[in-house]
Amino acid sequence: MPKQKEDGKHGESPEKQHFELERLPELVRKFSREKIEDYAVPDAGQNIILPPLIYNPTKDFVRARDESRGVMLASTVESGGKQYWLVEYMQMLGQGNSVSVFPSPAKRNALIAMLGENEKDMKVIEYHSHTVSTGDVWFDQFSSGDYKTIQGMLNVNPDYIHALFTPTHVLTLAHQETTLKLARSSNEANALSRKKFLKWQGLFNGFLQQSQ
Ligand SMILES: [Zn+2]
Repeated sequence: MPKQKEDGKHGESPEKQHFELERLPELVRKFSREKIEDYAVPDAGQNIILPPLIYNPTKDFVRARDESRGVMLASTVESGGKQYWLVEYMQMLGQGNSVSVFPSPAKRNALIAMLGENEKDMKVIEYHSHTVSTGDVWFDQFSSGDYKTIQGMLNVNPDYIHALFTPTHVLTLAHQETTLKLARSSNEANALSRKKFLKWQGLFNGFLQQSQ
């Protein structure tokens, strides 16, 4: 938990933290896809769990020419002092080149409207991709532009989490150590994750139609 500032003399709320740009690289965790697919990523205090239905497409969209960005919605489970976020839905919000990937306003509005009505205990995790055309030097690191954007988000919300998908790695950047793991699949688990995914997709498309 963030430490409390002396007495709020400077008009800051007690929870507010300032994340220094130079220190953000210390908060990055990176996982090779091999390790993820071998179920070899050990638990940390915070763990994002992707069912195969959601993980597998991340191997495809990094082969696209354009980079993409979007959000993952996860339900939360706490166990043994650790936080697990099981991702139920992934929605791309925008595509572009490495200089600018802007979200589509209609999709962003639909997401905001949907979360307004269905947020409850869902954790929102933002992501973006570095693709084969971004260049392999970017397969295991964030860019300086990424750090700036994420710094801004963390300073507003210290619980903010960002995930980066690349052809060879998945990286997380969060205040607390955060892993990304692949859920072991079974017919039953796959059927359940498909059902949840379709529920969110139906909701999202409904809101998208209204916001267009
Ligand atoms: Zn980036």
